[in-house]
Amino acid sequence: MNSHATIIGQKRAIKTLQHEFIEKQHTGSYLFEGPRSVGKHTAAQLMLKTLFCQTSQQQPCNQCSHCKKISRRSHPDLLEISPEKHVINIDRIREAIVHLQYPPLESPVRALIVDDADCMNRFAANALLKVLEEPPEKTLLILISSRPATLLPTILSRCKRIRFNPLSGKERASILGIPDEDAALLTHLGEESWENHEAVREKSNVIAQECDRLLKLLGEIYGKPGNSETLKTTSTALWKLASMLLENDATLPRRLALLQSMLRDLCFLKEGIHADTLLHSKAKNSLQTIASHFDQENILALLQRTDHTLNAIQRGYANRKIAVEHLLTGLEQALAKAQGGR
Ligand SMILES: [Zn+2]
Repeated sequence: MNSHATIIGQKRAIKTLQHEFIEKQHTGSYLFEGPRSVGKHTAAQLMLKTLFCQTSQQQPCNQCSHCKKISRRSHPDLLEISPEKHVINIDRIREAIVHLQYPPLESPVRALIVDDADCMNRFAANALLKVLEEPPEKTLLILISSRPATLLPTILSRCKRIRFNPLSGKERASILGIPDEDAALLTHLGEESWENHEAVREKSNVIAQECDRLLKLLGEIYGKPGNSETLKTTSTALWKLASMLLENDATLPRRLALLQSMLRDLCFLKEGIHADTLLHSKAKNSLQTIASHFDQENILALLQRTDHTLNAIQRGYANRKIAVEHLLTGLEQALAKAQGGR
C-alpha cells in the first residue's frame, strides 16, 4: 500500500480523513463503517502511517521505521485488536485501556484500532465506552465495523463516522488484478470474502473453468438444430451436465448459479439488451448461437426451473440428486418442445 490514491473506490472517505489527519487534528475517536473488505482497515493503517511517518507529512513513505512497524503491526504506539472466535472480550479492551494510558513513545499519539468492533460483547463495549467518554490525552481511536447498527448508540454518538462505499465489480477487479467480468461474476455469486486476494484469484480461476465447461455442455445441448442424430448427442450432453453439477456437494449451488447466470444472459440476448450488461460477455458469440435456437418463452421457463432448483437446494429442503435430475428432465422436455416446434 503506497499512497492514499491506492485505496480504490473511497475518494470521499479518504478526502475527509486527509483533512482530519493532516490538516486539522490528530486525536479523537473515529468509526470507519461500510461493507466488509472495502479498504477500511487499510485506510486506518494508512492514516496512522501518514501521521507517524518520519519523511513525509502528506503521503507515507512506507520505508521509514514507523511505516514499516505499522505494516508489521509492531509499532509500540499502536495497538490493534480484533475478534477471537468472533468475540472481542473485556480482557482485550482492558489491554487497550492500559495501552492508551501511557504517553506516546515515538509518535504524536497513542493509537488503537478495534477491527470488527461490533464483535465486542456487552462488557467490552461498556468498558470501551468509558474511554470514549473521557479519552486520555494524545490518543487516537479507530473503530472499524461492517455492522455499525449493532454498536451501542452511545458508542456511535461519540465517534466521528467515516463511511466507506461498497465497491463496484470494476473496482474489485482493479484491486485484485483480474478481468472486470470475473469480478462482476464473483459479486453476482454473492462473494463476501475479498480479504485474501490470492484465494479470491484462485476461486475466480476455478469459476472461469467451470463456466467454460458449462458453456461447452450448453453448446452441445442447445447449440445445434435438432435431428435424430443430434437428439442423441444432446441427451448424452444433458447427462454430462447432470454429472458435472453433482460432482461435488460443495460446488453444486455455485454451478447451478452459474447455469442460471448463463440462462439470464440468454434472455438478455433474446431481448436484444446491450452486451455490456451480460455477465458472460466473453462468451457472447457462443451464447448468441444457443439463443438463436430457442424462443424467449422457452429460455424463461428454463431459467425459472433453475431458479427453483437452486432455491430448494440452498434452503436445504431438496435431495440434491433428485432435484438436479428433475431439473435435467425439465431441460430435456423444454428441448424436445423447442425442437418439435421448429
Ligand atoms: Zn514513512
